[in-house]
Amino acid sequence: MLNLTNARRIGIVGGDLVGWLAAIELRRVFEPDVDVTVIETPELFSFGLGEGGSRNLVDTLCRNELDLDIFVGEAGATYKLGVLYDNWRGGGISDRYYRLFCGPGIPEIEWRVDGFFPLLSARIAMGEDLHTCVPGFDAIARHASQKDIERLLATGQSGLCRSYHFDAEAFERYLKRVGLSRGIIAHASAVCGMRLDERGCVRSLHLDGEQLEVDFVIDASGFARLGLGSVFGTRWRSFANTLPTDRAITFDLEPSEMCPDPVTRLTAMKAGWMWEVPLNRKITAGYVFSSRYADHAIAVAEVEHRLGHRVQPKHLLSLDQGYFETAWVNNLVALGTASGFVEPLDAALATHTFEQLRNIGRVLTNGGGVVPAHTIEAYNSANARSWTGVRDFLRLHYDCKRNDAPFWRDIAAAELPGGYAELRACFHKRTPRWIDIQPYVGSGWQALFHQLDWISVAASLGVVPAKAARAELRRLSAESRREVQAYLDLLNGTMSRHLPPSGWVH
Ligand SMILES: Cc1cc2nc3c(=O)[nH]c(=O)nc-3n(C[C@H](O)[C@H](O)[C@H](O)COP(=O)(O)OP(=O)(O)OC[C@H]3O[C@@H](n4cnc5c(N)ncnc54)[C@H](O)[C@@H]3O)c2cc1C
Repeated sequence: MLNLTNARRIGIVGGDLVGWLAAIELRRVFEPDVDVTVIETPELFSFGLGEGGSRNLVDTLCRNELDLDIFVGEAGATYKLGVLYDNWRGGGISDRYYRLFCGPGIPEIEWRVDGFFPLLSARIAMGEDLHTCVPGFDAIARHASQKDIERLLATGQSGLCRSYHFDAEAFERYLKRVGLSRGIIAHASAVCGMRLDERGCVRSLHLDGEQLEVDFVIDASGFARLGLGSVFGTRWRSFANTLPTDRAITFDLEPSEMCPDPVTRLTAMKAGWMWEVPLNRKITAGYVFSSRYADHAIAVAEVEHRLGHRVQPKHLLSLDQGYFETAWVNNLVALGTASGFVEPLDAALATHTFEQLRNIGRVLTNGGGVVPAHTIEAYNSANARSWTGVRDFLRLHYDCKRNDAPFWRDIAAAELPGGYAELRACFHKRTPRWIDIQPYVGSGWQALFHQLDWISVAASLGVVPAKAARAELRRLSAESRREVQAYLDLLNGTMSRHLPPSGWVH
């Protein structure tokens, strides 16, 4: 049992975005007379590159009473309504698909039968794009202004949920300002070690020349991984055999003359993929690649060739993808990069981090500060399951039939992780269902990527073939099949592309 009812000092190791967010969450959870101290060292390299927000960002802000308008102003945020995938299916101008942050207001997902969406399956059966059924997609396609998007979202009819692109350093400064105003203490120092008691609980943090007594610790030390890596030596579960990238270069691009796109653009490249995050005054970008197929110079040259102009690389990073098997040890919980790392595809790391944080707050609050050992075990196993879900969802993106470079040919031939291999076999027979994703979620955790996310990527890449969608439609009742047919006839009449004649369902 972890008893924090008499806790007086909470220590947060690392004062980056995750550290300050955790401090604000714990400030809310603990009584005002409990000290929450962020130990931050400005000398160490800050990894704060993350700028493409996740779907659970808004919930994280609102739960912590961080005003959205102020956040937008201070973090230089722009709307993010989803992701545009470019060039993932073999290239060419029309090789684009979207995964949008879908919300209520999409007729195609309001009708669900036996765990699937007949009207979406009808689109897949006919080879139609899925994103065009989202009412608000039109605004994305025409590069609507931020004001127009704001108005569109306010109607409640867009079928979209909001997230944001943001300037990570500005966001961090904002969080720190709020944190300080709420009584969080900032302590400028490096943590050089931790003193454990006989039960393995952290009793104090060794700072430069002093000790900070602690009752509970959040390790947000990023790649330094002070807690799980150095002090506890927790087992690392590597994704190196599953997710192929291990290097990244980052660079900035001039903003386009149009309004910032409300989607993150992810472009498949010869040895990995490139991201572009549109902010108000710049586009932050990077190329994540495999060192087996490219080096820094090759990566830069390929980016310059693709974009048609020179770029100025800012960082070359080595990425070690995987996670610590146990993230909560006694009175220490690791968060963010300190607990694991995956390539920034679909902002999966941020999504996972925000869910970790929500659950730490939930467990401490709901337990009144008293947490049984088996609840900590449940947190750890839910955390591990969630990482596995991230791994499998990201692996799906590489299942894309590209064969124009050794990187893509080797991935196509590589062994699949067990969980994903099984799902893939199911997706050859039918569209992704909630029961497929449910095993990644447990003990009060929420799914990081929803059924529609899986459908959007799997169907667009052809992992769900048209015949699989047709097969599940054939299992509908005669009346439902008529409804599907009427929908297709309507599409046939309103869409410019010619669809095959009626009767395909039978
Ligand atoms: C190439 C790349 C692109 C990314 N893109 C995105 C994106 O688009 N969207 C997104 O959401 N995320 C993205 N991420 C992830 C994002 O950068 C991280 O999630 C984010 O930076 C949070 O990291 P962190 O706070 O866990 O660690 P860090 O940012 O590394 O912070 C760790 C902090 O701990 C401090 N520290 C370390 N050791 C000590 C010590 N001994 N004592 C005291 N302090 C210490 C460091 O100084 C630092 O301030 C990206 C990551 C990479 C690598």
